[in-house]
Amino acid sequence: MSRTFPTVGILGGGQLARMLALAAAPLGIRTLVVDAAGDACAGQVTELRVAGWDDEAAMAEFAKRVDVVTFDFENVPAATAERLARQVEVFPNPRALAVAQDRLAEKTLFRESGLNTPDFAPVDTREDLVAAVERIGLPAILKTRRLGYDGKGQFRLKTPEDIDAAWVALGDAAARHGLILEAFVPFERELSVVAVRGRDGSFRTWPLTRNWHVDGVLSLSLAPAPGTSDELEQAAVAQARTIAEKLDYVGVFALELFVRGGELLGNEMAPRVHNSGHWTIEGAHTSQFENHIRAVLGLPLGDTGVRGASAMLNWIGEMPDPTPVLSLADGHWHDYGKEARPGRKVGHATICATDAGSLRKKLTEVGAGLSREDQVAPAIEVLG
Ligand code: AMP
Repeated sequence: MSRTFPTVGILGGGQLARMLALAAAPLGIRTLVVDAAGDACAGQVTELRVAGWDDEAAMAEFAKRVDVVTFDFENVPAATAERLARQVEVFPNPRALAVAQDRLAEKTLFRESGLNTPDFAPVDTREDLVAAVERIGLPAILKTRRLGYDGKGQFRLKTPEDIDAAWVALGDAAARHGLILEAFVPFERELSVVAVRGRDGSFRTWPLTRNWHVDGVLSLSLAPAPGTSDELEQAAVAQARTIAEKLDYVGVFALELFVRGGELLGNEMAPRVHNSGHWTIEGAHTSQFENHIRAVLGLPLGDTGVRGASAMLNWIGEMPDPTPVLSLADGHWHDYGKEARPGRKVGHATICATDAGSLRKKLTEVGAGLSREDQVAPAIEVLG
């Protein structure tokens, strides 16, 4: 008798889809990816269908071929997700996706869930911006409500004279997507909680991850986040759970948080597997990618416990020499198979160790070997 294998359809064919496909394969689960780009890097490891989100015929045919649909990219138009949801199960559900696509809806949900946020105000016109600056004060960050990621679509205002330049940069986007002005938070730390919720409501989180960004793009993650109190960890987990339940969320998501004066502030929610959870591939009993696949198919969720301490280094623009990482015990190399391009995430490395002290030693070695002392320095300082 011929066997059938479940197929997970993934909208978006970047590195997240690629790592989802690689996690699905050992479980006997197939993946089918849709992306408008013929060279989308997930296509190197799984079947890629080249089509645009608005190609209704291609989407309908895609929906017929898969058992469930999920995303590697949160900016899939809500209309596409809703249309697909009439044909096939879609996780996370289109409402959750729509909330997470809009910084204003997202921050409003955080506040309703009892998670404080930086002060914010919607901005649709230049007059709104002037009024918002007056109310919130400076410094502040003007962001597009939609379609911004990795620090794109953002303008930092330091003095009232910056209002003109901010409007020149983002005024057009205001008409298309709306903007939000946020108070600039002089945070002590950035943390994320990567969480997974199953179809039956089961809920798990990986330990809190500490993150460092450079120019708005993640550079370095460390997990479990050193020096995090149980109280802070429990508060972050409780917030993530409340938000997931309010959205009836299924799958993996990340809640990005600032810590200021010991208090947690919600920055944003990514309705998908997240860069700050890449370390879970080697550093945890079950990776975020495997648990996302399990969650959307209604399988039992895997153990999110850690094997030790892990650090993840992002490679932006171009891949460095792999030798220093490959020469380490428990050093792991990920090359997404993408063309080098300034600002592009092209790969990452995860360094695992049994404890903080040996992780510090390995990171010092890798930093020196790659002449990337600056990139590893924040982790070395806190592991000290
Ligand atoms: P985002 O795209 O909103 O996640 O922003 C990217 C990064 O910019 C964050 O991870 C922070 O490092 C920084 N950032 C964003 N919003 C704020 C804010 N309101 N205050 C201070 N830093 C911020």
